[in-house]
Amino acid sequence: MKRTIFFSAMLIMLVIVSGCRQTAESQLQDVSSKVLVSGKKPKNIIFMIGDGMGISQVYAGMTANKGHLNLEKCAYTGLQKTFSASDYITDSAASGTAMASGTKTKNGILGKDTTGKDVKTILEYARDHGLATGLVATSAITHATPASFIAHVKSRNQYEDIARFFIRHGPDVFIGGGRDNFASRKDGENLLDSLKAQGYRVIFSMDSIEQVKHGKLAGLTAPVHNPPMTEGRGNMLPEATATALNILSNDPDGFFIMIEGSQIDWGGHANDQKYVITEMLDFDNAVKQALDFAEKDGNTLVVITADHETGGMALNGGNLKTGKVEAAFTTKGHTAVMVPVFAYGPGAENFTGIYDNTDIFRKFMALYGFSATD
Ligand SMILES: [Zn+2]
Repeated sequence: MKRTIFFSAMLIMLVIVSGCRQTAESQLQDVSSKVLVSGKKPKNIIFMIGDGMGISQVYAGMTANKGHLNLEKCAYTGLQKTFSASDYITDSAASGTAMASGTKTKNGILGKDTTGKDVKTILEYARDHGLATGLVATSAITHATPASFIAHVKSRNQYEDIARFFIRHGPDVFIGGGRDNFASRKDGENLLDSLKAQGYRVIFSMDSIEQVKHGKLAGLTAPVHNPPMTEGRGNMLPEATATALNILSNDPDGFFIMIEGSQIDWGGHANDQKYVITEMLDFDNAVKQALDFAEKDGNTLVVITADHETGGMALNGGNLKTGKVEAAFTTKGHTAVMVPVFAYGPGAENFTGIYDNTDIFRKFMALYGFSATD
């Protein structure tokens, strides 16, 4: 008798599990929407990703900052769906690939579709059209989110293979951690020499990186990841953002850059509200740099979003006068909820409404006037 109940329970669970899988797969069929954009077109796009930044993370930062964040300057807001081709809950590799290339893929895969075929990213389209390109992150620059814009690998863990794509594609500027993936490799190769041979200035300290005004820059500020804000990262992200934008703005054809606040996600994984809030505020300081640049420039679109929410964070209390936050978490992992999109500048009005994460790529393509056959 007990056995029968056990097997029935197992059967029901199997049905539920395969049912969920089917839902994600079948939703996959109807995400290829036609994106038509209206209004003024930008020359430059600054795409900012707060990894793991759901509405609660944003509002926790807002509360800690006594009621306001720089990203509130964005008059246009929307929501995007984040599910991947394999899972209801995405990881950063699949959602990064979705936003970078307009293609849903399985969790763990970077820059390839579910069959293993390479998919071209917005950064690659921009480069092929003569625009300057850049990547900035507080994690290793070879980590899933920045890597999804440049690498094409079966697993996000292939860090040393991912580093090679920086040589192959040659973005004008990249600043982040991950020096070991270039310099202390299992194959003994020193990719820093290859970068130098390609005309890059290879620099390890933020003080020197900040002095760079033009040319190709590889800023590798940590052996692996940069430390959290709570362990003294300082203004690395806002400074890297300002430096990269200044260099890229030299290109008369325009630019595309992706800037990631990588560690909001890690605060969520740790269920550590102080970690989340300090990273959120740091990311918002980088947002200020981007918005200041865009305001002065007039031809720059800034789009700020997340790849997914992390921690199932909720705010059960707080105080806007004192900045006190009472957060709770439902999981150590990611969640499935839609994440916010904030937009500023020419073309920003196209980011209102509810849409799929793959549409972000399509909107960028249409705003630049690129066609997928180019
Ligand atoms: Zn995560």
